[in-house]
Amino acid sequence: MQSILPLPTQPVKPGTSTGQHFWPTEASGNQKIIDSYSPADGQLIARVHVSTRADYDRVVETAQTAFGQWRLVPAPRRGEIVRQMGEQFRRYKRELGTLVSYEMGKSLQEGLGEVQEIIDICDFAVGQSRQLYGLSMHSERPAHRMMEQWHPLGVVGIISAFNFPVAVWSWNAMIAWVCGDVCIWKPSEKTPLTALACQQIIGDVLRNNDVPEGVSCLVTGGRDAGEWLARDPRVALVSATGSTRMGKAVAESVAGRLGKSLLELGGNNAIIVSEHADLDLAIPAIVFGAVGTAGQRCTTTRRIIVQESIYDDVKNRLKSAYAQLRIGSPLDESFHVGPLIDQAAVKSYQVTINEIRESGGRFVVEPGLLDGIGFESGCYVKPCIAEAENQWPIVQRETFVPILYLLKYSTLDDAIAQQNAVPQGLSSAIFTLNLREAERFLSTAGSDCGIANVNIGTSGAEIGGAFGGEKETGGGRESGSDAWKAYMRRQTNTINYGTTMPLAQGITFEL
Ligand code: NAD
Repeated sequence: MQSILPLPTQPVKPGTSTGQHFWPTEASGNQKIIDSYSPADGQLIARVHVSTRADYDRVVETAQTAFGQWRLVPAPRRGEIVRQMGEQFRRYKRELGTLVSYEMGKSLQEGLGEVQEIIDICDFAVGQSRQLYGLSMHSERPAHRMMEQWHPLGVVGIISAFNFPVAVWSWNAMIAWVCGDVCIWKPSEKTPLTALACQQIIGDVLRNNDVPEGVSCLVTGGRDAGEWLARDPRVALVSATGSTRMGKAVAESVAGRLGKSLLELGGNNAIIVSEHADLDLAIPAIVFGAVGTAGQRCTTTRRIIVQESIYDDVKNRLKSAYAQLRIGSPLDESFHVGPLIDQAAVKSYQVTINEIRESGGRFVVEPGLLDGIGFESGCYVKPCIAEAENQWPIVQRETFVPILYLLKYSTLDDAIAQQNAVPQGLSSAIFTLNLREAERFLSTAGSDCGIANVNIGTSGAEIGGAFGGEKETGGGRESGSDAWKAYMRRQTNTINYGTTMPLAQGITFEL
């Protein structure tokens, strides 16, 4: 693998992104380092300093000072700066996409797609910067005017997961910036290099526009650094993407100080395949949904719920589709499936396989680990399919690997009930050409998820539609529709331009 960005020989330090870096306050011998290994080939690709608590505090202080200036910059002007960032990401799309693919292990196409999402959210945010609309209301009192305004919140903490190492940051940061907030990003400890690359890519834009130091900040580390953000009353909003376990911990800490949180957590996504489905559409959608990013998307298809009359047909078609899958380096575009993120993920794949067998599950497509030439990292596994039952504890959990559960239904009500009968509520889909079935699935009596699709799969969301889910998925919405409101505070204003002081509700008060 050739170096795709000039890789530093010394461990890289996080901090703020316009040139000033915070150096650790501890003696360098005590400084913790994250070693980032590529799951593609097992190579060590970066050594990154972990932020100390002292680094963190200095970053927050700088961010707070920057907020005082940034909030005064007119929103369309902030949008113009985000537009320039979009141009930078267009310029470095191939380099950053390749780095995402190499550090995280998703296919090059998906790595490039992730950078395209950054570009798309930049474009979206530019338009949004001129549309931070408040309402005006008719007052019940004469010569009074009521309106609401949206003001920035302050410091926004962004905790992100390994599987979308850069896009999730941009969904939050680009919108937060046009809203007038400043951001502190705590990326996954499994993908620190892509985060540093993003800060470098926008650095010139920040410098060229004299953006104050501290508008875009980065702190590195694992759970500790995430907990600092969650507990810190100086951080107005914590937007956290990751497992439900992490989300519950963050929610508790942030609620304990009555702060705001925006949670994007695990999914357990199903596709219903009706007897009225076009299987030529359904099969590729299921396969991409189940094996794309090696089953490591929050929207990965984990369950398919098939009408009993076409069950065997669907099973056989899936078997032959899976037989065509080629597994190998994510950077080689002839392969469909890359590696899992690390050995811990491989372990969870193995544990789950055993539990499926113990529960009575039957593999339609057999699991397995790959070794030998090309698989030296030890992170490559075979995508598999198991016949299972929805209520089994193993099916109720999100296991972040390419295991697909095959379930059967008789009536549509039964299918929708199975689809909804899991703790998570992120993405869902139905394949049917029957209008009544499709509409019922989308109705109040249908899917209980944040995303419900017809004749497309569960993964592959677009910028523009609010993204997020219900129940243990956390309830947050990002990257479109009116999601910008989460990054602002609403202020209601009543203005009296008359010569009397009437009270609301007709209350009289005489002096
Ligand atoms: P993870 O929960 O292990 O880690 C996510 C982030 O949280 C990391 O930055 C980690 O350092 C931090 N963290 C961990 N524990 C913390 C704590 N107690 N307090 C504060 N921060 C903490 O998740 P992961 O393995 O990186 O990612 C996979 C998970 O993320 C899956 O469950 C997936 O469904 C979910 N995910 C959800 C979405 C979504 O939009 N709903 C998107 C991507 C990933």
